[in-house]
Amino acid sequence: MTPIYNFSAGPAVLPREVLEQAASEMLDWHGCGMSVMEMSHRGPEFISIYQQAVADLRELLAIPANYKILFQQGGGLGENAIVPMNLVGRSAQPATIDFVHTGSWSGKSVAEAARYANVNVAAKPAGSFTSVPPQETWQLTPGAAYLHLCTNETIDGVEYNLDNFVPTVQGDTPIVADMSSHILSRVFDVSKYGVMFAGAQKNIGPAGLTLVIVRDDLLGHALPICPSAFNWKTVADHDSMYNTPPTYAIYIAGLVFAHLKRQGGVAAMEQQNIAKAKLLYAALDCDDFYANRVALDSRSRMNVPFYLGDETRNEQFLAGAKARGLLQLKGHKSVGGMRASIYNAMPIQGVQALVDYLNEFAGR
Ligand SMILES: *Cc1c(COP(=O)(O)O)cnc(C)c1O
Repeated sequence: MTPIYNFSAGPAVLPREVLEQAASEMLDWHGCGMSVMEMSHRGPEFISIYQQAVADLRELLAIPANYKILFQQGGGLGENAIVPMNLVGRSAQPATIDFVHTGSWSGKSVAEAARYANVNVAAKPAGSFTSVPPQETWQLTPGAAYLHLCTNETIDGVEYNLDNFVPTVQGDTPIVADMSSHILSRVFDVSKYGVMFAGAQKNIGPAGLTLVIVRDDLLGHALPICPSAFNWKTVADHDSMYNTPPTYAIYIAGLVFAHLKRQGGVAAMEQQNIAKAKLLYAALDCDDFYANRVALDSRSRMNVPFYLGDETRNEQFLAGAKARGLLQLKGHKSVGGMRASIYNAMPIQGVQALVDYLNEFAGR
């Protein structure tokens, strides 16, 4: 059978080894006679799964001791409301939140936050979303409650280069980063951010789990209207078990973290991700048959939107891809075209198979 390669933006491909391990442990986890799905979240079996997952994630991202790791529900969009409810109470009222609007997801964050505070779009590209505006152009608000960035725009394929990027804010304004679609894909300095969040279904594990990493001093400022299950301080004080967490999703995420450690950690994944992205962009750039419209220094290593020069052939392209086992390449409906998401779990063989097809379809 020809292997299948899944380029979905999310829920997305998971490492095969992880799925095989989960399958083998499905009915009986480590001889306890129960599936992880059936365990009490307060029992010793699940507590050990939870503790290992937290420890492995802390090691993978070198998360300093003054940051809490929270496992929540509600997804990335849920956090768009949970973040302001937890942070705007820290600053003088009426609070203002600064945003850099780089694409669809940061746009949704602006719209949601406007229900809780004044919002200021500090920067937004003039035309379509094809680059990260230079930091010198950001119009930041002194005393802003926080600055929100989406460091990888999953739909637009725009990524901050976190290697060179040193976010500078005034005073003690924390930076909040929506890292849903590139967390664990590259090394970055956690200590530069106040809050990092990510829906799990892109690069971590199954849908239903949201990861939040939050600096200690940002806990304890939730607005009275904030539901207690979404109050980060309450969640942190109960080790993410104030209410029943998405236990099975945490278990799978833990298997992914252990798998990443065996692969050499985030630095090793980053090298693979650089190689995969280089291979794919080279095939898209080699002539005018395909186009990726994102500025070179803002191109995402995870989500690669592209267009055929002749868009009347889109359906033919997708049908041919499917016949070759290259699945879920259709672009997001808001931007059209195609999109290949090449997360950690996409092997380079999958990218090579896509490149072979791109060349074949272009008659190269
Ligand atoms: C997918 C995604 C979201 C939305 O996540 P949900 O879990 O569907 O709420 C938010 N931000 C980014 C960057 C995403 O990629």
